[in-house]
Amino acid sequence: MAARWPELALCAFAFLVGGAACKTDERPRAAAAESVRLTPRVSSTALSGSTAAKLSASDREAGVVAGRRPTRASGTEIVVAGERFDIGAPVVLWNDPGGYDAYRETPFFADQPDAPQKKRYRPGRGMWTDPSSRENEPAPGEPAPTLERLRELVDQFVLHYDVCGTSRRCFEILHDKRNLSVHFLLDLDGTLYQTLDLAETAWHARQANPRSIGIEITNLGAYPPGESDELDRAYVEDEHGVRVALDANARLLTPDFVARPIRPERVRGLANGTELEMHDLTSEQYATLARLAAGLAAIFPKIELDAPRDLAGHVRDDALSDEEFAAWHGLIGHLHITDQKQDPGPALDWEALLARARALRALEAGPIGAPRE
Ligand SMILES: [Zn+2]
Repeated sequence: MAARWPELALCAFAFLVGGAACKTDERPRAAAAESVRLTPRVSSTALSGSTAAKLSASDREAGVVAGRRPTRASGTEIVVAGERFDIGAPVVLWNDPGGYDAYRETPFFADQPDAPQKKRYRPGRGMWTDPSSRENEPAPGEPAPTLERLRELVDQFVLHYDVCGTSRRCFEILHDKRNLSVHFLLDLDGTLYQTLDLAETAWHARQANPRSIGIEITNLGAYPPGESDELDRAYVEDEHGVRVALDANARLLTPDFVARPIRPERVRGLANGTELEMHDLTSEQYATLARLAAGLAAIFPKIELDAPRDLAGHVRDDALSDEEFAAWHGLIGHLHITDQKQDPGPALDWEALLARARALRALEAGPIGAPRE
């Protein structure tokens, strides 16, 4: 029986603005030492196959059904144990121009030459005997995080919302201010930023970290009805509907992008017993999230394209017991991991996401398997 992990404070941004919400919550404590970084090799495997009815035209345009494509320096591939896998969604890697590098052991944005060096992640994967110790180095004799080993260890895909407004702001808070990490950041325009090879353990969800892949989805978060002043400021109406009020420093990759929630009205619902309201993700975010989920399920056979459900078959809005958490392998929200969190919040349309991801996965003839040489 595992103890409940004491949660750290709210998201740093939420703390600053007085909002309620999430942020990754795993913090390193041990001193860092130098270690070898995995160097991605150039190879590629694409999701491929025939068409499926549930896919949108944009899914097809993204090339998901087009089969194998040449590897590009950046574009649509994620990196796992140094191998590249094409997920058919826009990806910026940590070592691409404009990428966010979680390997950096100093602040990423601020010029702080005197800042102490420390890792914000744990190289490799391994089941710690005591997860609360938060080692940031591999255990002596630990096997290398090969693709084969990762397929045995990695079985959860954890969804967070970032309460930060943009992925750029999220990385600044996560890396520079909180010394934390997450594998992916999903910006408003659907751009996916990968900050670490998935062979590494990111610090985003405590007891889920050794076995999971984490993503911070850009969204302003959820608030109790009547306490959502932050949403009033962050979302405005124009002649076409509701949009995110982006500031001049947003730096989205898509020029002049207008971010609109896929549903114009706020969505209310429960999260760990609290009624909250929030705006939905953008259609671009859902498209990328579905492609990523489908790709991860193909790469990691233990990641099932489902979310924790209650006895009636509905996706749960509360935390799992320790036993349920231990047994779960698939997509999972931060709120399912601890009753102290609400993300990804009531607006996240799990069923639509899962249906789209399953349709994408069904396109593929077999396991995404070995990367192409
Ligand atoms: Zn979270």
